[in-house]
Amino acid sequence: MSLTLSRSSLIRTENFIAGHWVGSDGGSTFGVHNPADLRQIASVPDSTHDDAWQAADSAQSAFKAWKSTPAKRRGQLLKQWHALVMSHQDDLGRLISLEQGKPLAEGRGEIQYAASYIEWFAEEAPRIEGDLIEPSVDGRRMLAVREPVGVVAVVTPWNFPAAMIARKMAPALAAGCTVVAKPAEDTPLTSLALIHLAEEAGIPAGVINVVCASRECTPAVADAWLRDTRVRKISFTGSTPVGKQLARESAATLKKLSLELGGNAPFIVFDDADLDAAVEGLMASKFRNGGQTCVCPNRVYVHETVFNTFAYKLTDRVAALRVGPASETDSQIGPMINTRAVEKIMKHIDDAVAKGGKILVGGQQVRTDIGPNYVAPTVLADVSSDAQLCQEETFGPVVPLCRFTGEEEVIGMANNTPYGLAGYFYSGNISRIWRVADALETGIVGINEGVVASEVAPFGGIKESGYGREGSKYGLDDYMHIKYLCQGSL
Ligand code: NAD
Repeated sequence: MSLTLSRSSLIRTENFIAGHWVGSDGGSTFGVHNPADLRQIASVPDSTHDDAWQAADSAQSAFKAWKSTPAKRRGQLLKQWHALVMSHQDDLGRLISLEQGKPLAEGRGEIQYAASYIEWFAEEAPRIEGDLIEPSVDGRRMLAVREPVGVVAVVTPWNFPAAMIARKMAPALAAGCTVVAKPAEDTPLTSLALIHLAEEAGIPAGVINVVCASRECTPAVADAWLRDTRVRKISFTGSTPVGKQLARESAATLKKLSLELGGNAPFIVFDDADLDAAVEGLMASKFRNGGQTCVCPNRVYVHETVFNTFAYKLTDRVAALRVGPASETDSQIGPMINTRAVEKIMKHIDDAVAKGGKILVGGQQVRTDIGPNYVAPTVLADVSSDAQLCQEETFGPVVPLCRFTGEEEVIGMANNTPYGLAGYFYSGNISRIWRVADALETGIVGINEGVVASEVAPFGGIKESGYGREGSKYGLDDYMHIKYLCQGSL
């Protein structure tokens, strides 16, 4: 697939600072590749500390006016952005498939999902409210008002290049914050196209600023924002080690942080579950984006009395999945993002087999005639709980099946991880449903449901999966602080 869109102006290959499309100060660029065949599709600026500083300067200059723009007007501008994103969903979806690899239908689906956050926060903006507090002392008026925190730095991963940008920028803008953003180095083009549409929607110059950076130059960009006292918040989605590093380094300027980090989601199938529904839920949840989703099930625990039936039904479905590039319109599983990701997945499979796991289907790289990044959808049975597949986030189309015998035992297994993003279980027993939902140590629980993310619901983790919530009525809180006003008598 080549980089051609019906609207070619969506292909932006420069930084966006203070309303201008510009190269990096240092003049360097880096390549963006199609993971389907490793061909370079574009090059974008490899930004420096100075570029990042200029972006923050622009965001700070725009903050005062944006903060005082009526919330209703901010909402209207977001609505215009939403309409433009929706009307370009085919082009934007194709761009995602090109640089990220997911099938075309999923690329388009991600655009609709991203747009839903823009629309949601467009509608939340006019609902920002404070409180009038009953005074404790005669003659006083006491108020709690909500204010935007200021300039927000947004750093996003490659697996959902549109949704992650929208889920952070829309609440920031609705709250009255201005933004500096750095998209993932693998997938900057989708973010730049979205920003082009935000510009077209009329969002004023300086309110959104974006700089691109390679893996090597990213620390310099991050360092500029971490040190900058004008940047009051960092909103980060990515791996737990980088999240911890940002938490440590932002301590010096005490920035507010939202961290959406890695997961290790358990998926439990009890003996009283509807097995066909559980297979359906697992297929939808696990194989979206080739398993490269932070909330997708990483370990599957099946009660021993239904283990063989469930494994048989699942294997049948997984064997029928079609692997291939987005250019093949019937592809269901695209390439992994890069060869590092493939190496990690193959290492996890080998480790599980060495520890006694049995491959029921898949287990190898495929379509190597096209490119090195395709992994066969895989199911393994009797995977040991100390295997890397169960201990670490694999981020690939691999399902490890583990047996269990009792409810307490499986809850212990599910919670035995530093992560706490999502958890899923299938059961037909209402008492068990509430017991298990209470006991799972995760920020999100899918109960007889595999696809849970929605703009109307709070998304985020606990434990080492981070803190902060995106989407829903809670999603604005992370971008605002509360100011207390106390008036004495005149
Ligand atoms: P990553 O942490 O390597 O990169 C994420 C972003 O951080 C990228 O933009 C990257 O350039 C940037 N980055 C890398 N090093 C940095 C540094 N030193 N300082 C500042 N920024 C830096 O993660 P990834 O490989 O791109 O994404 C996969 C991870 O993201 C997985 O662990 C996945 O679970 C997680 N994720 C979480 C969620 C969620 O909502 N919880 C959603 C999607 C992905």
